[in-house]
Parts: sequence; structure tokens; C-alpha cells
Amino acid sequence: MTDNRKPPADVFRYAPAPESRSIVDIKPSYGLFIGGEFVDGHGKSFKTISPSTEEVLAEVAEADDADVDAAVKAARRAYDRVWSKLPGRERAKYLYRIARIIQERSRELAVLESIDNGKPIKESRDVDIPIVAAHFFYYAGWADKLAYAMPQSAGRGTDPQPLGVAGQIIPWNFPLLMLAWKIAPALACGNTVVLKPAETTPLTALLFAEICQQADLPPGVVNIITGAGGTGQALVGHPGIDKVAFTGSTDVGKAIARTVAGTDKKVTLELGGKAANIVFDDAPLDQAVEGIVTGIFFNQGHVCCAGSRLLVQESIADELLAKLKRRMSTLRVGDPLDKNTDIGAINSAEQLARIRELSDIGEAEGAGRWSPECELPQHGFWFPPTLFTDVTQAHRIAREEIFGPVLSVLTFRTPAEAVEKANNTPYGLSAGVWTEKGSRILKIANQLRAGVVWANTFNKFDPTSPFGGYQESGYGREGGRHGLEAYLK
Ligand code: NAD
Repeated sequence: MTDNRKPPADVFRYAPAPESRSIVDIKPSYGLFIGGEFVDGHGKSFKTISPSTEEVLAEVAEADDADVDAAVKAARRAYDRVWSKLPGRERAKYLYRIARIIQERSRELAVLESIDNGKPIKESRDVDIPIVAAHFFYYAGWADKLAYAMPQSAGRGTDPQPLGVAGQIIPWNFPLLMLAWKIAPALACGNTVVLKPAETTPLTALLFAEICQQADLPPGVVNIITGAGGTGQALVGHPGIDKVAFTGSTDVGKAIARTVAGTDKKVTLELGGKAANIVFDDAPLDQAVEGIVTGIFFNQGHVCCAGSRLLVQESIADELLAKLKRRMSTLRVGDPLDKNTDIGAINSAEQLARIRELSDIGEAEGAGRWSPECELPQHGFWFPPTLFTDVTQAHRIAREEIFGPVLSVLTFRTPAEAVEKANNTPYGLSAGVWTEKGSRILKIANQLRAGVVWANTFNKFDPTSPFGGYQESGYGREGGRHGLEAYLK
């Protein structure tokens, strides 16, 4: 299944089309957002850098135990005195207001997200920020209808109650989107929150804190504390929180599950994945190629539900791979703020080292490595779009989450073999099926152990649709009506 046809030597040359950064005002330093105000932390501070240039963007406070305690207490006060007493329709007004401000300030948020995270502006502008606003609109709509959201049979009666204070921890791959997934349903249900963004991408969460001020959200309803794993640990272990909502790696998720075991805290964990994207011989190949590219190269592959294992039916493998390589040759890697960029910077030096390590292991274990020719910028953290052929299930690149723009290609002969290989993973977050037969889609989808199965598309997100995993991909659902359950008694 090797392909010797060369990709087209010359592709379109694009003139630079950079988005202006002048709309964003990055302060030299940031404090913590506690009780509706920015305050100095008691701990040290750390630097957040631009992964595409390595320039220092700002100095950010690192919350210590005392800061975490102050944030939890502020959230408790706001819960007891204000937020839990407001009728749902009043809470909804704040959420609608926040959603509208996000829309109004969307360009600023998109530019800041691309600077701090490294993702292409066309993704932050056209995908992340619109879905962030949509989440706040969607959950605003639920705030006064919670009684209708919960079926009577679940024994919750007609007056569902919030849990109290939620401690929320999010990763760096979709900083503002993960914030929206956490904060919008929590607030709609009447909870208050303390949220910790990832240490490499704190800036849009801090801008969101300003938006809470602009929306006149009562002080303490949302608290944003910055810091690394230690701050997260202090939040999870704090006796004053009623709920932990975590999105991140499976290892940290397991540690969190151990910490809260034996306490009354409710937990939802959204963890890693190693999704199979299955292409049958009757699939429309050009569309499948687009779906494969979206599945693994969107957001540099820093996507928990990325289609990182391509399972292709043996009879069409050569043809599909030739088309895929041609398409990969047209991907533009570079400046995240350039409107023509398809693949931006890898988020951190650590993540780049992990992608390099696993890719080298893939080669050492005998898989065939291929990347299109592409010039990578001198500074910053970069990795070319890469695919591995002749991958077997024993290879580490077929089993471990790489969380980068690296695709492992495996083949199958029968539908049963495809399902067996797709399910041969400790994860279970998502999967994709490409075929023109509706009956096959339904049959295969029923056999896949994955929280989300996309048919003839990939990486589509919608606030009305629940998202979550099986096995080591975590438990609990975010999004949709199901997302409310995680924040109600
Ligand atoms: P990570 O687990 O290292 O960090 C995630 C967050 O947890 C960060 O804010 C970090 O500071 C914090 N943290 C680290 N150690 C902690 C501890 N001991 N206690 C409490 N908090 C701690 O993950 P990451 O590298 O930032 O993110 C990548 C991972 O996130 C991938 O595995 C990816 O699949 C997963 N992810 C999952 C989803 C999903 O919805 N399932 C979405 C996005 C990312």
C-alpha cells in the first residue's frame, strides 16, 4: 500500500494575509479574578508565551492554596446570597448578555486565542468563538426550563436544584471553548464556579473575566484562578466545592478520581481519545479525504476526539492514500494570525517533544513516515502534517494519544475487522464512518464503543449535542440536555 506518485510539485502561492493584533490589548501582568475583581495572588507568577514566536506575552499570577481558598469562599458567598436565589429567567438574562458580548468582542477573542494558543485564526474566528457564544445562548435558554429537562422517572421531581460550587479545570487545546462548555451549563443550573485554565493558555479566560464584569454578573459567580497542576490539585482537594468538572489527560483524570473518592463531590471527567476514522470501499473518496484532514489536522491535531487512526478498506487504500497525500501537500503551515494558515503552532515545547518522540518511535517500530515538503518557521514550535503507513495495532502510534498532526493508517478487509480494530483501544470518545450505505452506518455505529460517532463527516460540534466518552475517555456528558444533569442534584 505504498504510494510512489509524487504530490504536485507546485501549489498555489499565497501572499501573506495577517490578521491585525491591534484589536487586542495584552497587559504586561494579570492577577486572579476573585469575587468580581482582579486581585494579586499570594503565590509566584509565571509567563505565558506565544507558541508561534516564543515571545513572552504576559506574566500571570499562580494561585496558591490561600488564593484557591479565597476563590472558593467567594463562589460560596455568591451562591448562598445571590445566584441560587435568582429565578432561572434572571440567570438566563446574564447568560444571554454574556453571549452577546462574546459575539460583539469575537474578533478580539479570536485574535487573542490564536496568539496565546497557536491555532489558526480561521479556526478561532470561524469555529471556536462562534461555538462559545452558541453555548451561552443555548444554556441561557435552559435556565428557566430545568423542570422540563429532567424526566420525572429519574426521581428528581419538577424542581431540580443546583449542586453549589463547581471547581472546573480545563486544558489548553480549546481554551475558551472548554471554558464555555464548563461555565454555561453550571451557571444556567444555578451553580457558581471557580475555573482554572491551563497554564499555557490563560489569556482568553482572563478576558472572559472582564466580560463577566461588563455583563454585571454578580461578584463571585465566576472566579478565574490561574496556575499549573498544583493549583488544580488545591482546587480539587478543597472541602468547599461540591463538584469537580475536569477536562484533560487520562492520567490526571485518574488522579482526580482518586482524590475525590470517598467524598460527596460529584465528578465529570472528559479525558483523552484515540479515535478510529473508518473508510469503506463505497465511500465518496474526495469527501472522505476532506473528513480525514479535518479529523486529524484541525487544531494541529490537539483534539481529544481527533480521528488519529485511519482505518481504510484494503481495496481502496492505494487510491485513498494518493488523494490524501495530494491534499496534505496543499496544507499551509505557519503564522496562526495569517488568514490562509491551515496548521498553526504546536502549543508548547513539551507537547512538541512528545509528538516528536512518539513519531520517532513509530518510525523505529517499522511504520512508514511521510510528510509533504513544507518550510517551518525559524522560531516557535512546529510539526509538519505527518502520516504513517503500514501501522499495526501493536505499534505505539496506533495505541497512544499523540495529540498532534500525526495520522496512523491501518487497513481492514471486512466490516467485522474494522469494528474489532476500532474498538481495540482503552479509550472511547469518538469515531467516524464513511460509506454511502445508511444501513451500514447504523449497524457499524451501534457496534462502536465511542461516545460520538460521526457519519460521512468529522469533528462537528454543536451545543445541543451531548459529548463524552467511554472507558479511559472519562465519564459524564457535556453539551445538550445531558450536560445539565452534571450540574443538578
Ligand atoms: P493535563 O491533564 O496535563 O492538564 C489539563 C488541566 O489539568 C490543566 O489545566 C492542568 O494545569 C491541570 N492539572 C494538571 N495536573 C493536575 C492535577 N494533578 N490536579 C488537578 N489539575 C491538574 O492535559 P493537557 O495536556 O492540558 O490536555 C491534553 C489532554 O486533554 C489530552 O489527553 C486530551 O485528549 C484531553 N482533552 C479531552 C477533552 C474531552 O472533552 N474529552 C477535551 C480536550 C482535551
